[in-house]
Amino acid sequence: MAAGSELATRVIASMNPATGERLQEFPCASDAEVAAAVERARAVQPAWQAAGAAFRAEVLLRFVDVLSRRKTEIARLISREAGKPYVEALLTEVLVAMDAARFAADESLVMSAPEPVPHRNPVMKMKRGSLVRQPYGVVGIISPWNYPFSIPAVEATAALAMGNTVVLKPSELTSLAALEVRSLLISAGLPDDALQVVLGDGPTGAALIASPIDKLVFTGSVPTGKRVAQAAAVRLLPVVLELGGKDAMVVLDDADLEVASSAAVWGAFVNAGQTCLSVERCYVHSSLYHRFAEVCATKTAMLKVGNGLDETTEIGPLINERQLSIVESHVHDALQLGARLLFGGARLPEKGPNFYAPTVLVDVNHPMRIMREETFGPVLPIMPFDSDDDAVRLANDSEFALAASVWTRHPGRGEALARRIRAGTVMVNDVVSCFGISEAPHGGIKSSGIGRTHGRLGLEEMSWIQYLDSDRLPGMRKVWWYGYGAEFVRQMEGFTDALFATSLPRRLRGAMRSAGSLFRKGRL
Ligand code: NDP
Repeated sequence: MAAGSELATRVIASMNPATGERLQEFPCASDAEVAAAVERARAVQPAWQAAGAAFRAEVLLRFVDVLSRRKTEIARLISREAGKPYVEALLTEVLVAMDAARFAADESLVMSAPEPVPHRNPVMKMKRGSLVRQPYGVVGIISPWNYPFSIPAVEATAALAMGNTVVLKPSELTSLAALEVRSLLISAGLPDDALQVVLGDGPTGAALIASPIDKLVFTGSVPTGKRVAQAAAVRLLPVVLELGGKDAMVVLDDADLEVASSAAVWGAFVNAGQTCLSVERCYVHSSLYHRFAEVCATKTAMLKVGNGLDETTEIGPLINERQLSIVESHVHDALQLGARLLFGGARLPEKGPNFYAPTVLVDVNHPMRIMREETFGPVLPIMPFDSDDDAVRLANDSEFALAASVWTRHPGRGEALARRIRAGTVMVNDVVSCFGISEAPHGGIKSSGIGRTHGRLGLEEMSWIQYLDSDRLPGMRKVWWYGYGAEFVRQMEGFTDALFATSLPRRLRGAMRSAGSLFRKGRL
């Protein structure tokens, strides 16, 4: 109780990172409030499950409809709270959420039907097997600030579609966007308690993990993800971890330089580089390297930095001072170790409190932090390579493995190289947009995480698999039940031969020896 009241006194604030304006303050939910939210979500879950997949899909489709009608207002709110250009808020937040909700509605209908499991063993053909997807119960979602609407919306709609209820703990920096996810779903007909939002900071997230949720979907940084995994392990809470990235872009010698350079600039600077799928390392074949870097610098110089609510803005502010100083320190470290600045490399205080110029660096190498740690800012570091093997080695030389891209005029060559890159997603001739493909699974390996969100695999994560076995002959005792003895042993040796002996005569002899077991009564 003491700890709860202590937590309730902490306050978080939503700020406009472009102006520093304080938009709204919220008290952090106490441990007791988090537990109460989970309890309410649990109480309503059986009814939500029993309502059936078709009813749930209708609610999600109404959510798409409500969101479609309120898209401008919501995108503007996201732009104000997270700083991103309005059009990015519209496409990467609102549109992504709508498409994912529609996918979840359609696909969950298919997945709600039992999936037959045919049996090969002739004795087991007497049974009808199927996979039944069951909701976990209450799914906890902990989400970051960089896609403050689409990440919780995609994960919550997937969980709800599969019959779970949800308790969401958004980033303390973007409470307003998360509250909108809930209010839109409620206006679409979601029962009041089926999605609860508990506002707060790190300890509020920790309280959610300690509460009796049944599954956790966490999206955030690697250090927090490791702490979350440890806390979850204590009680074997199943988790999906969507963590950081250091995505490599590999530009092969036959790439279209004009197209690939535009991709590098957009992929590195979209959402001011605060995207888990950002291009954070760009490797270019040495025959194109100098020209590619020059073109990237020229294109970067043309970008308009400013307040995201101005429709001509292409790059908004970083989220806060902490993020700015990480970017600054990575660029400083690279320059100290011999990197060269082709463009940017400085704060833009005249634009507002959190602006940093889009930055192009060359002559970078792997000992530099800019090539090893997640920068999460508008920096494009470019490095040459000499052969495809070299490119694969460099791309794989990272703790992270979320996504990567390969650029070539020959997609077959690109796909072959893509298979050699260890990353959850590899795109050939595109970057970042995989996040907007609702059918595509999203997630990484190595330190980039465990499990998947998005797509069918994302829906699978929201359910546990029950194998349902139904015997077609309920009146028949099974031949393998008690009543062992010499005759039964010979019959079963014969049965084993009938299934697996390599010669046909032995298989036939085995089948004849085992046939009697079908009429065996047994002792019990
Ligand atoms: P953080 O790891 O700082 O925070 C993520 C969430 O965890 C926030 O809601 C945070 O709350 C909460 N949290 C903090 N401490 C704890 C704790 N001890 N227990 C439980 N929850 C806790 O990440 P950021 O918000 O800074 O997000 C940026 C990171 O997210 C980047 O590394 C980025 O790559 C990654 N990311 C990964 C994605 C993917 O799909 N793989 C997608 C998007 C982002 P609070 O904010 O209030 O501190």
